[in-house]
Amino acid sequence: MKHLPLARLLRPKTFHEIHGHNYIVDGFKKILFPLKHHTFLLTGSRGLGKTSLARLIAAALLCPHAELKHDPCGLCDICDRIQKGQHPDLVEIDGASKTKVEEIRDIISSSMTLPLESKYKIYLIDEVHMLSMHSFNALLKNLEEPPPHVIFVLATTEFHKIPGTIRSRCLIFQLQAPPAHELVGYLKSFCHNRDIPYEDDVLFAIAQQADGSYRDMLNIVEYSLALTQQRLDDHSLFNYFSILSHTDIHKIIDQILESDTVELKNDILKYFDKGLSADKLMKQLMSWIVEQKDIVQQPLVILYQELSKCYQLLATHPYPQSFVLMSLIRISMVASLKKKLN
Ligand SMILES: [Zn+2]
Repeated sequence: MKHLPLARLLRPKTFHEIHGHNYIVDGFKKILFPLKHHTFLLTGSRGLGKTSLARLIAAALLCPHAELKHDPCGLCDICDRIQKGQHPDLVEIDGASKTKVEEIRDIISSSMTLPLESKYKIYLIDEVHMLSMHSFNALLKNLEEPPPHVIFVLATTEFHKIPGTIRSRCLIFQLQAPPAHELVGYLKSFCHNRDIPYEDDVLFAIAQQADGSYRDMLNIVEYSLALTQQRLDDHSLFNYFSILSHTDIHKIIDQILESDTVELKNDILKYFDKGLSADKLMKQLMSWIVEQKDIVQQPLVILYQELSKCYQLLATHPYPQSFVLMSLIRISMVASLKKKLN
């Protein structure tokens, strides 16, 4: 049997199965049943599920059972073919490879013909920001007054590159990256459903590593399960991914707040030796602070500000690890931080 990556295997087949994005899903249900608009633009960083959502919009419009529950059934032949990219009335276009104006004109002229099997013909243009200005202009008229059977679903990771004329003709949905605790919740139910032993610390580290992307997270989970023989409680994973555990991050935060500069320096150097990048260390420290239940404590607020300032300068520094090491030592000497947390 062909091996399917976990991220594809767990791709949602109904709106109900989408994790997070509740407002967006509710919004689509209202707009699709009955259909009130013909052009949609989905935007958000990579791995958030834009393509999955776009396919579900297509399924919601084409599945004969969707009207009843305002959700595609996910089980019928039509839903199945849409998920596999095999339905003739769902035309998927990769904006990155179809940038030429002639190609867009071909798409537009094909949209004039009636759907082969269904009521609608749906054009999903992924990475739409890659189109040339001529292609956008060619598309414009069609977006404004599409034939009644045509639906456009555009998706982009770079919203700022979409011309205002295109944006103003679309209903725009901005998908937000979920916070780490939401990804951890998703992973916990994933482990429960499959009887996979786990530790919170390990799940949190995987969620942080994924940086808001469900697809990346499931790829990391798949790799981790292969390394650990189906367990997510194995601390050796921290070494594989060169990331810190919750306990390690807490220790660094304490060292900074208590101005324990010698230990702080030794630990940071040890982590850098193990392959931890300066960027990842800073992200993990900031993310740890944001995840604290009682975040409104003066030392944590000031520490977050100081870390953010350091992070902004990091990208342009020629020696990121030395810069972060020296910055953390300097931050640990900030007088207003020297207060114990509650
Ligand atoms: Zn169906």
